[in-house]
Amino acid sequence: MPITRRGLLLGGAAVAVAGGAGILTPMLRREGRWVPGSPRNGYVEGTEGKLPKQADVVIVGAGILGIMTAIELAERGLSPVIVEKGNIAGEQSSRFYGQVMTYKNPDEIFMMHHIGKQRWRKMNEKVGADTSYRTQGRVEVPLDEEDLENTRKWINTKSAELGSDNPFNTRIIHGNELEQRLRGASSNWTIAGFEEDSGSLDAEVAAFVMAEYAKKIGIRIYTQCAARGVETQAGNISDVVTEKGAIRTSQVVVAGGYWSRLFMQNLGVDVPTLPAYQSQQLISGPPGAPGGNVALPGNIFFREQADGTYATSPRVIVVPLVKESFIYGYKYIPLITDPDFPVHIALNNRLFTTLMQPQSWKLDEVTPFEEHRDMTALPDLPALEESLETLKAEFPAFEKAELIDRWSGAMSIAPDEHPIISNVKELPGLVLNTATSWGMTESPVSAEITADLLLGETPPLDVTPFDLYRF
Ligand SMILES: Cc1cc2nc3c(=O)[nH]c(=O)nc-3n(C[C@H](O)[C@H](O)[C@H](O)COP(=O)(O)OP(=O)(O)OC[C@H]3O[C@@H](n4cnc5c(N)ncnc54)[C@H](O)[C@@H]3O)c2cc1C
Repeated sequence: MPITRRGLLLGGAAVAVAGGAGILTPMLRREGRWVPGSPRNGYVEGTEGKLPKQADVVIVGAGILGIMTAIELAERGLSPVIVEKGNIAGEQSSRFYGQVMTYKNPDEIFMMHHIGKQRWRKMNEKVGADTSYRTQGRVEVPLDEEDLENTRKWINTKSAELGSDNPFNTRIIHGNELEQRLRGASSNWTIAGFEEDSGSLDAEVAAFVMAEYAKKIGIRIYTQCAARGVETQAGNISDVVTEKGAIRTSQVVVAGGYWSRLFMQNLGVDVPTLPAYQSQQLISGPPGAPGGNVALPGNIFFREQADGTYATSPRVIVVPLVKESFIYGYKYIPLITDPDFPVHIALNNRLFTTLMQPQSWKLDEVTPFEEHRDMTALPDLPALEESLETLKAEFPAFEKAELIDRWSGAMSIAPDEHPIISNVKELPGLVLNTATSWGMTESPVSAEITADLLLGETPPLDVTPFDLYRF
């Protein structure tokens, strides 16, 4: 039975998906002062002091993509500066589920994920700290015979493509091996796909450890410092203008996550992405709970974290109607009608908010970025509750699990669901890296591609599928 649930959420139901609606900025007490932030964030202090007057490269956004790109550029001898409107990793990069995986990836992103897994495996050693990365193995029980058949074909094709030099550790498992991995399950699952070298990252840890490392190697990260725009002289970038002043530079990376589209729009560049929200929860790991990372038919997903807690979520993506839905919506019809894309379209106050939001501004004006420091969306509580009950019914060991946290994260997605990692021809010297729903897996490779594009070098992979102008 397909797990896909599709529907248009209206009225009362829209309250349930306030994940698509609410924007709150809770305050947290950190190191003796109040800072905007979410209780589920770790916290890394931004760089103290005045903004530099000049930088080799200015990166907009201190999420995982901005941080990893800065590290990559620093390793190539540049001195990048990151400006962040809120806190380090205050948005998607502390709100993810945490799989580092390739399972059934489409061809366009497979190699980026495959190499991403390899890079994450060496990350703790590289940064000299525990990023929370674990190679954990992931079990996915197929939905039906057709799904199983497609999985088998996909495994065979990818094994043949990669060959023996580049091991591909995904196979079909059954019998004892499957029973061990799903110990305590109520249903009798007989066959599953198993990605033995899939990895796991914890949202409370990974991006913060990478940010600490970035600071350790000399990267400056200015927080509470929104970039308002870019100035040009004779067609070339001359400055990034922030709320705290301008930084002279000819090279810019925009890794603004959810906000990249709006930022680029003010520069006259169209980035056709729409927002998408997903809710998550964290529960304690009671005795007898099966470990690992598991996906089962019936919308059951869990992943054991490095500290023994469990991340679990309903795999439902809420796509609110926003002003841009009427401009780009038609480009999304193939994605939204894909039965494997578990989407709810929601009509809620995001439509009004986006209609009222300024679409352009001068560089001496306050921008929407300064008004939304760390965007914190409300979680879809009924969907989370239902998914927790389903998990407990399937694995009674979770009956004793205690709820630790619930949250929602806002992504932006492109019509083909692939990332945008691209030179921007209207603004030579600016590279855009955004619109991924797999940024944790991809970030080590996506940062390398971004650096290559910025420096005019040849990226390690074909970047045509990530080009901004492909739509
Ligand atoms: C619920 C959920 C589950 C996920 N699960 C997984 C998973 O299992 N595996 C996986 O690989 N990926 C997963 N992802 C995706 C992954 O988390 C994201 O792709 C990744 O974190 C994106 O990183 P980013 O740096 O692009 O964006 P963000 O982390 O959102 O960072 C962008 C930053 O830019 C800042 N910014 C924006 N505009 C400006 C401006 N004008 N000036 C200054 N700063 C600005 C923002 O404040 C923000 O901090 C998940 C995401 C979500 C939401």
